[in-house]
Amino acid sequence: MLLLLSNGLVLVGILILLGSLLTVRRILLSFPEGRSRKGWSIMGCLITLFVLGYLAYANLFWEQHTQAADLIVPGVFFFGACFVLLSTFLSLNTGLDIIRICELEKESSTDPLTGVYNRRHMDKCLQEEIAKAQRYKFDLSLLLIDLDNFKLINDQHGHQVGDQVLTEMSALVVQELRSFDVMARYGGEEFLVIAPNTGPEYTHILAERLRKKIETHHFIAASKALEIKLTISIGGASYGGSITSQESLVLRADNNLYLAKGQGRNKVITDQSKDSP
Ligand code: GH3
Ligand code: MG
Ligand code: MG
Repeated sequence: MLLLLSNGLVLVGILILLGSLLTVRRILLSFPEGRSRKGWSIMGCLITLFVLGYLAYANLFWEQHTQAADLIVPGVFFFGACFVLLSTFLSLNTGLDIIRICELEKESSTDPLTGVYNRRHMDKCLQEEIAKAQRYKFDLSLLLIDLDNFKLINDQHGHQVGDQVLTEMSALVVQELRSFDVMARYGGEEFLVIAPNTGPEYTHILAERLRKKIETHHFIAASKALEIKLTISIGGASYGGSITSQESLVLRADNNLYLAKGQGRNKVITDQSKDSP
């Protein structure tokens, strides 16, 4: 009976360790690349070494468990294996929860059509950037981008093609931005770029670069293989002077966009361009 119990504890321990190895495999398959993946690979190797150790022990002491004290080591083996299984299982669940939370967070901050940030995220970022500009006297600029005569594209080619154009245009703009710039869908066919550490001069250069990029790009509607020409108008504004709040910054960019539309579209207006002759 004692023999059966002690050997049983070791064998069940081995099975539990093999179960832990499966959990580690799931962790390695589910978690993104990174430092912790290396750690989990090492964990997998250690568990394999444990399994070999358990097997060696079972082989050496199979017949030698004759008194109650001989149950101590198999008992420790068994509970050790339970501990490893529980640790790996809880780690897997915690990791999957974190991945789910990250996905939800991403969903709540991005625009489902274009994949750029949504207005809610933009508001949060802008508040933070305004606070930094106020406290550390950093430069900060905004670009408000509006597609020209976009309604015509929808009317002529259909809403689906309009959606494709919106998505492609967003991706083209993002390509031109720096990693710390924030591009968000402000509404319908209007987008807003938050450009931290950017003064009025570079804001105008950046806006012109974006305008030219869209003007020269050939948008191809995938479904109909037809080419669509698109232009954008951009209103820019920079923090400083009388513009010291989120509202005044957005309002200035909006006013400049209105001027750009008034001047025939496919145009950039920033305070810099208004100052220059
Ligand atoms: P303007 O140059 O003055 O900006 O003219 P516009 O036609 O671009 O502006 P208007 O405000 O008259 O029309 C905007 C159009 O954008 C109308 C609306 O149907 C379209 N739109 C807004 N959101 C979406 C969208 O998610 N997908 C598509 N396909 N169209 C959209
Ligand atoms: Mg428009
Ligand atoms: Mg508009």
